[in-house]
Amino acid sequence: MDELSEEQIAQLEAALRALQEELETTIELSKDAAKPVTLDQQAIGRVSRIDAIQQQKMVEANRRRQRLRLSQTKQALEAMESGEYGYCRRCDETIAFARLMAKPESAICMSCKSALETRR
Ligand SMILES: [Zn+2]
Repeated sequence: MDELSEEQIAQLEAALRALQEELETTIELSKDAAKPVTLDQQAIGRVSRIDAIQQQKMVEANRRRQRLRLSQTKQALEAMESGEYGYCRRCDETIAFARLMAKPESAICMSCKSALETRR
């Protein structure tokens, strides 16, 4: 696989920064929804209370995923600064540009990813 060109790196850096901003905004916006459910038991029924708790669990799971993705994005930007970006952390091969454009925070290549997934 070819190494990334300067132009491709620049494109990916822009993608990473946009992703970081987007994730930070989403995480900030969902902050209130993730707060513990404090509902007036008298005002609403038991069913809607259960609904609210399930809803909150979903929001929390999403936020966890987003925070993880945000930290991967920041790590990718750091790797870019030290010139280590675009290499698989597992096998040291270059990661395909197309994969990076789709998921710029990727730290491992496609074949390592599928190897990890089939091992599970
Ligand atoms: Zn790999």
